[in-house]
Amino acid sequence: MSTNQFTSQSRGQYESKAYSAMGPTSLLVPTSISRREPGDNDIKIDILFCGICHSDLHQVRNEWSAMPTVYPCVPGHEIIGRVTNVGSQVTKFKPGDLAAVGCLVDSDGNCPHCQAGLEQFCSQMTLTYNSPDAHLGGVTYGGYSDSIVVKEHFVLRVPSNLDLAAAAPLLCAGITTYSPMRHWGVTKGRKVGVVGLGGLGHMAVKFAHALEAHVVVFTTSLNKKVDAHRLGADEVVVSQNNEDMKRHASTFDFIIDTVSAEHDVNALLQLLRPDGTLTLVGAPDRPHAVSAMALLFNRRNLSGSLIGGIAETQEMLDFCSKHNITADVEVIPIQKVNEAYERLARGDVKYRFTIDMASLKSQ
Ligand code: NAP
Ligand code: ZN
Repeated sequence: MSTNQFTSQSRGQYESKAYSAMGPTSLLVPTSISRREPGDNDIKIDILFCGICHSDLHQVRNEWSAMPTVYPCVPGHEIIGRVTNVGSQVTKFKPGDLAAVGCLVDSDGNCPHCQAGLEQFCSQMTLTYNSPDAHLGGVTYGGYSDSIVVKEHFVLRVPSNLDLAAAAPLLCAGITTYSPMRHWGVTKGRKVGVVGLGGLGHMAVKFAHALEAHVVVFTTSLNKKVDAHRLGADEVVVSQNNEDMKRHASTFDFIIDTVSAEHDVNALLQLLRPDGTLTLVGAPDRPHAVSAMALLFNRRNLSGSLIGGIAETQEMLDFCSKHNITADVEVIPIQKVNEAYERLARGDVKYRFTIDMASLKSQ
């Protein structure tokens, strides 16, 4: 990184349009941020679309005690755009190509995790926003912006058959649900639960269905039942209905929990068969209360999962290309981002907002 840093700094900076928040209760407002000029291994991307993840909302509102927000905060880690410039050492991309960036923009590249394609576990990994910026100082700025400069290794190829606005959420919601399903062996005939039908949840349903699992959605929103079936669910359970929950006791191979708020994970653990796994991907700040008994019986596993590595993210995009999978999106101009946050906070989105960044360029 040090040579890159030197090269980049010597090549200077430029200004990029963006939306940032100045504090946990501030609205996102237009601003100008510095980006580095691309170094030898960098790619400069003109951002076309950026998805709005619930993590953006958690981070902007400083809801995570483990990851305090540094302001100004420019969120956004579901990025799709077009390459405008490449460094002299770049081999995989050329100007004019489509390109995508997810939650990661750097890592040390040498540790066992990086070598294993698990950059998300590298102790030096740099997140797309709110991570220390080794090039310019301060913190990294995300995709609510008209351009970004990223090291080639962290830039993904976008399959040509995918709608770009609907493909942007694959870069976080997609990989975060695909990765644990691959890790825990979701295959044909497995009984898989998806808890929470939001941005992540609706992607999980699509992946589990494409992997030919028997998919059961657990939702708190009765009005999502029809959609859940349309997205690929075989059964839908309204999780407040105790009788329905009991009917599924000790039958699941795997459950993915995408819920963004506090809820009862013990009721979900009870649904796992012997050696079944509940994987948490949803990230409420407050710790869950976990019943030892719920784990002891049936030797159940409780695990977590964080996005996915770069190679697996490309694998996921190629899987989406083959199965024609994208997110169900509501495309908004960036001027509606604060309204979108309010709606996301109250669960009023089907099933992902994507910002059309042309609205920022013309502002
Ligand atoms: P989202 O679109 O807001 O979806 C969350 C869903 O959770 C809601 O649609 C709702 O589904 C359910 N829910 C919300 N409040 C609930 C409550 N009080 N009790 C029960 N269910 C509730 O959010 P998202 O973008 O999918 O993100 C979900 C979570 O994953 C966030 O915490 C986010 O930070 C986290 N995340 C983690 C990773 C990772 O790497 N692990 C990556 C991205 C995001 P129903 O209406 O169907 O009940
Ligand atoms: Zn995300």
